[in-house]
Amino acid sequence: MNRQSPPSYGPVTLALTGVDLPELAAALPEGAVLTDPDLLTGYRQDWARDPDAGTPLAVVRATSTDDVAATLRWAHAHRVPVVPRGAGSGLSGGATAVDGGIVLSTERMRAIAVDPVTRTAVVQPGLLNAEVKRAVAEHGLWYPPDPSSFEMCSIGGNAATNAGGLCCVKYGVTTDYVLGMEVVLADGTPVRLGGPRLKDSAGLSLTKLFVGSEGTLGVITELTLRLLPAQPRQSTVVAGFATLTAATEAILAITGTLRPSMLEFMDTVAINAVEDEMRMGLDRAAAALLVARSDAPGEFAAREAEIMVAACEKAGATEVFHTEDPEEGEAFTAARRFAIPAVERIGPLLLEDVGVPLPRLGDLVTGIADIAERNDVLVSVIAHAGDGNTHPLIVHDPTDPDNTARAHRAFGEIMDLAIALGGTITGEHGVGRLKKAWLPDQVGPDVMALTRRIKAALDPEGILNPGAIL
Ligand SMILES: Cc1cc2nc3c(=O)[nH]c(=O)nc-3n(C[C@H](O)[C@H](O)[C@H](O)COP(=O)(O)OP(=O)(O)OC[C@H]3O[C@@H](n4cnc5c(N)ncnc54)[C@H](O)[C@@H]3O)c2cc1C
Repeated sequence: MNRQSPPSYGPVTLALTGVDLPELAAALPEGAVLTDPDLLTGYRQDWARDPDAGTPLAVVRATSTDDVAATLRWAHAHRVPVVPRGAGSGLSGGATAVDGGIVLSTERMRAIAVDPVTRTAVVQPGLLNAEVKRAVAEHGLWYPPDPSSFEMCSIGGNAATNAGGLCCVKYGVTTDYVLGMEVVLADGTPVRLGGPRLKDSAGLSLTKLFVGSEGTLGVITELTLRLLPAQPRQSTVVAGFATLTAATEAILAITGTLRPSMLEFMDTVAINAVEDEMRMGLDRAAAALLVARSDAPGEFAAREAEIMVAACEKAGATEVFHTEDPEEGEAFTAARRFAIPAVERIGPLLLEDVGVPLPRLGDLVTGIADIAERNDVLVSVIAHAGDGNTHPLIVHDPTDPDNTARAHRAFGEIMDLAIALGGTITGEHGVGRLKKAWLPDQVGPDVMALTRRIKAALDPEGILNPGAIL
């Protein structure tokens, strides 16, 4: 993809030889293969909603590792592309269907077994993140990674994208909780990696290789997840700022002093979009809002909240609010989680997740505002601010070619800016098809060549999610 051109997903050029769908159907349980065009439509796009998404030959709804293995053996033999799919909430076009391929859905693989003794859970990939959290909570345990989409994304998709979320500033991202997995390789061979062991130095760190591989190296059919004791009660601070700079100063002051359990940012567009929907009394005049939480033990949470209040006031906050009430804290967290759907009500979004080292966050946020102004487009910024991970939301009008061209230009310039600031084009959503043209600029030719060698070694026929990442 030309970096100046609009994001596009590019053609996929696998030779489709001797495709024999009845042979595939015969290898799978009855009803596993869908070919009804109306049903296929729902599996063509992910949340990035690529208008040029392909039309798959069929959708396979696997119920077991055997189903996944049979599908891949067949696809490998016939050189048919396979796009693994969890819940389709991805924002990078990673699960976008390709013409003539198979969408391999894990939505029916939903088993979970929790072991309170080792504090681990063995889960199939189709369970939603929220369902995992609820199942382990019954044992007094906690699975921390919490993407804003936790009610609608699968745990397999989380592992495949190395998903982050709101509490990651203190508790890390998905890879920090994946102790092991079963993954089916491109030729249909299932392999087991890692297991319920907190320490394991045997061999290469292959488990980590598959986390974040976005369905390009194998299909994850089971995960062994590390769990923590239930999260302690949290104190919550909400602060409004008249300028972006004051807000980013407060973020640095907080992260330089302590490790909050959450430190989230919304700009004025997001504040107003959320307020339009939720009527929470957010300060519509504020340029930025921070929602910060502490889950330090006992009375230390309130103490940390006081330190965060002082940091916000010192940075010039116009309004600061502190609550020990968990329900009130959850309401502000829910407001932040709702920011993407709320801004999406203004218009369709091009959504990014660029990240930078924390000291450059101010440069990134003000630089994005400059890019928006220069290209005359509306860009709202929300952020997992404590991680330096922003979500610029570029509102555009697909019916207006000029507006769309300017939005796509801004999309590229924001990634260029992140790279120039020593950052990343994607902090948590993955490269998918949307951002792959910028990957070489971030990682350089040697890393790109290494990535291609790994891909060729594991998927020599190139059937797994062709067009994603590379
Ligand atoms: C409103 C909203 C808020 C969001 N907030 C966050 C956030 O805070 N943090 C965050 O990280 N993400 C966020 N996301 C993005 C998205 O929810 C995550 O990327 C999530 O991990 C995707 O999971 P999924 O099951 O929907 O995967 P899908 O979209 O189905 O797939 C994502 C990628 O994973 C691959 N894949 C899926 N399952 C498997 C498998 N079993 N084996 C191999 N590959 C597989 C697919 O091929 C694709 O490349 C948000 C999305 C929305 C819509």
